[in-house]
Amino acid sequence: MLYNKLTSLNRYNSHTFINVNSLAGSQLSGKITVNVPGLSCGDLIFKVRDVNYISEQEYYWNGVLEPKDTLSCSEGYIYLLSTQYGRKASIHIEEEQYEINELSSSRYILSHVNDSINNSNECYNGNSTLDSIGTAEFSGCDGNCDVRCLVLYTTSAKNSVVSINNLANMAIQQTNQALANSLIDMCELRIKLSGVEELPSFIESGVIQMDIDLLVNNVLARQRRDATESDIVILFTNADYGFDGLVAEVGPNDDLAYGIVNTNNAIGNRYIFAHEVGHLFGARHSNDSAPGYAHGHTWIKGLKRKRTILGFSSSPKKSRIPHYSNPQVYYQGKETGVDGENDNARQLRKEACTVANFRETILPFYIGLHGEQYACPCESIDMEVMTSGGAPGPFTFNWFSSIDGINWTNLQASGAYVIVLVPCIEGLEGFFIRVDVVSSDGQSRSVRRYISVQTQWPGQLTPCQGHKPSSVINLNSNHLEIFPNPTKNNWIINVNS
Ligand SMILES: [Zn+2]
Repeated sequence: MLYNKLTSLNRYNSHTFINVNSLAGSQLSGKITVNVPGLSCGDLIFKVRDVNYISEQEYYWNGVLEPKDTLSCSEGYIYLLSTQYGRKASIHIEEEQYEINELSSSRYILSHVNDSINNSNECYNGNSTLDSIGTAEFSGCDGNCDVRCLVLYTTSAKNSVVSINNLANMAIQQTNQALANSLIDMCELRIKLSGVEELPSFIESGVIQMDIDLLVNNVLARQRRDATESDIVILFTNADYGFDGLVAEVGPNDDLAYGIVNTNNAIGNRYIFAHEVGHLFGARHSNDSAPGYAHGHTWIKGLKRKRTILGFSSSPKKSRIPHYSNPQVYYQGKETGVDGENDNARQLRKEACTVANFRETILPFYIGLHGEQYACPCESIDMEVMTSGGAPGPFTFNWFSSIDGINWTNLQASGAYVIVLVPCIEGLEGFFIRVDVVSSDGQSRSVRRYISVQTQWPGQLTPCQGHKPSSVINLNSNHLEIFPNPTKNNWIINVNS
């Protein structure tokens, strides 16, 4: 029984039965209120940063905590996932981690993640000596440079979690969220899950550097990589390595594009899956002595050391932020990187197509969205959708915008290029644009983007004109309705006693 399995895992140290409402009915204008039992933070409000909502059975929702006054509840993230393997949530509040797992369609359990999983070291890969500078830089937006990742797992890895499939799905989503947070465009790089398969007969030796050699030389792993056209391979393990993960080599290297991630910290505050995937593109630790810009980043903020996904800390229990280093992106008012030194985002962009071409995947039809990721309040932005691949035109374009990423309003535009009015709403931090494209032979694709609404941002070309949103909704903005939902806005509403 799933309940017995879950409560027997040392991954968790306390459990509470909860109710989970529908996502569409729980969120209000892109905000979800969560009250975590046992955490003295009261109501926590998460603001949407990304959402892909198909139905209640298939969605992904990511939100950032609206900071509270208390120091202990000021920073957090929530990742919600619904798939054929059930619903799962990963909740990060400061150093605390919680997960929600589905036991049955009406029974959910909230579990506190045991802090002891952080006793391990994070990543075996120390300083790397290879210098990856010299590859020409180019943008991947002119074609499809999605990278396909095969997730393999050992028997002990499968037994260490509620659903290995949903762990893989969540790990991929968190990685793609970190790419988006780091201003790496959807048309530049996203990781696609090409398969989740058991690697029978692979038994962890307990020595992580030995196991990575066994993986690289595993005939079945190589065959499955080829058969699934996977550019990179991550093996989930669950052994007492003393390390959460490593890669065969800091890439890009076709022959050695393999990594190991312990299920304990694959998702969660350490983001080990996203970390090892970063290594496979040549991203390095913040303290790696190799020259160049491909380093993670850390900095002091108040009493805390902030660190990005490749950030190294001598006190590794401290949480990471879900960002790859990028001097063009601010976090709490501070750059998340340093030009020429700490810029994982640049490295990831640069090698995206190299890694994507490790195994060729022919996609007949691909669309990419071009345009700003930031917008001034009450002004407008230009967006253009590019089509490539083997689908014949003419194409039909349907544009939409949304405050919450779930309820969409048609933009009355029918070309590949649109000018979008930014909703003039007080307190609006961002909104979504989506375009659905259909080719003349009936193939359809959809792409969406979160546009961050700010008055200033790094690399801003033209200053904002200083329009002030009125506190009343501007009905002339004609694109958005912001209160479409019933006001039942607690995702977790009550605790069963
Ligand atoms: Zn590492």
